[in-house]
Amino acid sequence: MSVELATTIVGARRSAAEARRAGRTIGLVPTMGALHAGHGALIERARAECGYVAVSIFVNPTQFDRKDDYERYPRALDADLQFCGERGTDAVFAPEAAEMYPAAPKAFVEVAGVSENLCGRHRPGHFRGVATVVAKLFNIVQPNAAYFGEKDAQQAAVIERMARDLDFPVEIRRVATVRESDGLALSSRNRRLSVEERRAAPVLYRALAAAREAIRGGGGVEEARRAALRMIGEEPLARVEYFEVVDAGEMTPVEEIKGPARVAVAAWLGGTRLIDNIAL
Ligand code: AMP
Repeated sequence: MSVELATTIVGARRSAAEARRAGRTIGLVPTMGALHAGHGALIERARAECGYVAVSIFVNPTQFDRKDDYERYPRALDADLQFCGERGTDAVFAPEAAEMYPAAPKAFVEVAGVSENLCGRHRPGHFRGVATVVAKLFNIVQPNAAYFGEKDAQQAAVIERMARDLDFPVEIRRVATVRESDGLALSSRNRRLSVEERRAAPVLYRALAAAREAIRGGGGVEEARRAALRMIGEEPLARVEYFEVVDAGEMTPVEEIKGPARVAVAAWLGGTRLIDNIAL
C-alpha cells in the first residue's frame, strides 16, 4: 500500500487537517526511522485506535549529545515508507533538519525532574531536544493521540509530563517493549552491533530480569542492583553506564519499593549505546 509522504511542515499540517475535517481521529507515532517491529507495534496500535495515522521520521539533531552518533544513526527512508505502507499508515512526515530548524532555535521545552536522572544525566540536553521536537510535532500534526514505546520509559514519562503541564490536547499512549527471542529489546541501534556484540547484548535484559526476580523475591534493591552489575561485568564486551531501580513516575532512584517502579539500564557495546528497562 502506498503512503503519502510529506517533507514540509505545511504539507504535514494540511494532510492532518484534511483528515480532521473529515471527522477522523488523528494518531501520531514519532520515530527516528530505521523502522523495526518495535515501531511496528506503535503503528499497529495507532491504526487500531485512530482514523488517520501519521508516522514522523526525523533524526532530530538537537537530541544528540554526540555528533558522531547523529551522523552514524541509521537512515533508511525507502524501506521505512514501505514498512509504514504495509501497516496502513496514512502519511509519513519526514522533514530535513533545515525544515524543522530553519534558524538556530531560541525556544525550548524543558521538563524538570523527570528529565534529570538516567539518560538525562548521561546525555546533557537530550530530553530538552526530545521534548522540544515532540512539542513541534504536536503543533504540526495536532494529534488526538500519540504513541510512545516503554523501551524508552523515561522519554514517555517526560512527554506525559510535558503534555500535562503545558495542556497539549493529546492523549499519550504507551506501548510495551518488543523484544527478540533472546530478550534483546529491538532498537534501530542494534544494526550497528558486530556479531560478537549482538551475541553479548542480551545480558542487559537478563540482568534486568534477574534484578526484578530478586526484588520480587523479597531481596533488597541495592543488593539486586549490585548482583545485576556483577552479571553484566562478566560480559567483557559490555560496559555499564547506569543500572538503577527508579520510581516509574519521577524516574528517581528508590531504595525500597513503595509504588510503581522500573529497573533501567544503559550500557555500551563497543561504540553502540543501548538502553532497556522493565517494570517491577
Ligand atoms: P526511535 O525511533 O528509537 O526514536 O523510537 C520511536 C518510538 O518507538 C519511541 O516511542 C520508542 O520508545 C519506540 N520503540 C523503539 N523501540 C521499541 C521497542 N523495541 N518496543 C516498543 N517500542 C519501541
